[in-house]
Amino acid sequence: MDFNLPEEMQLLKDTVRRFVDKELIPLEHEYRHDSEGPMPERLLKPLQEKAKAMGLWMLDVPSEYGGAGLGLLPRCIIHEEVARAASLPFRGLELFGPEVRPVLFHCNEEQKERFLKPVLRGEIRFCFAQTEPDAGSDPAAMRTRAVRDGDSFIVNGTKRFITAAGRSDYVQLMALTDPVKRARGGITCFAVDLKSPGVVLERNWPTMMGEAPWQILFDNVRVPAANVIGEVGGGFLLAQKWISEGRIRGHGARPVGIAQRALDMMIEYSKIRVTFGRPLADRQAIQFMIADSAMELHATRLMVYECAWRQDQGEDVRNLSYMVKVTATEMASRVVDRAIQVHGGLGLMKELPLEWWYRQIRSTRITEGANEVLRWRLAQNLIRAHN
Ligand SMILES: Cc1cc2nc3c(=O)[nH]c(=O)nc-3n(C[C@H](O)[C@H](O)[C@H](O)COP(=O)(O)OP(=O)(O)OC[C@H]3O[C@@H](n4cnc5c(N)ncnc54)[C@H](O)[C@@H]3O)c2cc1C
Repeated sequence: MDFNLPEEMQLLKDTVRRFVDKELIPLEHEYRHDSEGPMPERLLKPLQEKAKAMGLWMLDVPSEYGGAGLGLLPRCIIHEEVARAASLPFRGLELFGPEVRPVLFHCNEEQKERFLKPVLRGEIRFCFAQTEPDAGSDPAAMRTRAVRDGDSFIVNGTKRFITAAGRSDYVQLMALTDPVKRARGGITCFAVDLKSPGVVLERNWPTMMGEAPWQILFDNVRVPAANVIGEVGGGFLLAQKWISEGRIRGHGARPVGIAQRALDMMIEYSKIRVTFGRPLADRQAIQFMIADSAMELHATRLMVYECAWRQDQGEDVRNLSYMVKVTATEMASRVVDRAIQVHGGLGLMKELPLEWWYRQIRSTRITEGANEVLRWRLAQNLIRAHN
C-alpha cells in the first residue's frame, strides 16, 4: 500500500497550488465573491486563459469532446487547492470552463448537438431543478408532474432553491412521470427551455452566502418528448449519480482545501500575535486548537482521496461518499471556527477570508443532502448489510 499520490498527481497538485498562490489568493484583497452570478468578466477571463494554458480546462469532460477527461481523484486534488482561495464564487466557479452537468452526457446523438455541444462551447447554460417546496431532503416526494400528450409532455409544478436559474437558458428538470413508481422508475429528466410559455421565475431567495437561488413555476409547460434525457423513468438514478460525485468533490475535497488554509492562517497568526508578553503559539489552549485541526484535516483528506480513488476504480462508493461529505463539511466548520477564534476580533473582519468561509461552509451541511439524512442513510445501509 502506497499512501503517496502518484508522481503525476503530485505534480498537478503543486502546479495548481502555485497558480492559486500567485493568481487567486492575491485577488482576495480586490474581490471576494459575495453576490449572485459569476465573477465579473474582467477578472474571470484572464484567469480562464491561464487555466486553459495549464491544460486545466473542462476537467470532467471526456477528451472526445475536447475536455481533459480527468478522473475524480485528480479533480478532487485540483478543487482542494483552488478552495484555498476565497476569491472565486463558491458554487459554479467557471474557472475551468462552462459547467457541464454529467446528466447531459446521457443525451442521445441528436440531443448532444442541441444541448451538450452548445454548453461546451459556452453558448447556452443549464441549471438543475430537483428540489421543491415540499420535497428537499426527500426528492422522491416531488409533486411536479409531467404527463404525456402526443409527442410532448405537459409539466406542472414548482421547483425551489435552483442555483443560477436566473442566468440559465435551460433547466434539467426532474419531474414525476409515474407517481406510483416515483424514485423507482417514475422520475424523468427533461431539458426544458426556460423561455417556454408557462415557465415563470417567480422569485429568488437571497442567502447568507451571497448567492440567491430561484423558485421556478411550471404552469402547463409543453416539453417535446425529444427533450427527455436518458430513459423515461430513469431520471432519478442519473441525478443521484451526479449528486454523489458532487458530494465527494464539492463537499469533500473543497472543505479540505478551506480547512488547510484556515489552519495555515491559524498557525501563522499564533506565532506573531503577542498577548501577556508571549506569542499565542506558546499557549496550550491555542496549541490544542492547532493540533485538533491538523488531526481532523489529515484524516479527512485521506478519506476524500480514498473515496475518489475507489470511484475511479469503478467501485460503489455510496456509503463512503456519505461519510466523506459529513466528515469534511463538519471538520471544515470546526477548523474555520477555531481559526476565527485564534484571530480574535480580526477573525470577524471582512479583511480576512475567514468570515466568508464560515458563511459558505455552513451551507454545505445542508446542500447535496443534509448531514442528518446522510447519517441516517448510511446507518440504514450498514444495518441492512450486517448479518
Ligand atoms: C444555496 C442553495 C443552492 C441550492 N441549489 C439547488 C439546485 O441548484 N437544485 C436543486 O434541485 N436544489 C438546490 N438546493 C436545494 C437543496 O438541495 C435542499 O435545500 C436540501 O436538499 C435540503 O432540503 P430542504 O431545504 O427542503 O430541507 P428539508 O428537507 O426540509 O430538511 C430540513 C432539515 O431537516 C433535517 N432532516 C430532514 N430529513 C431528515 C431525516 N430523515 N432525519 C433526520 N433529519 C432530517 C435536516 O437537518 C435538514 O437540514 C439548493 C439549496 C441551497 C440552500
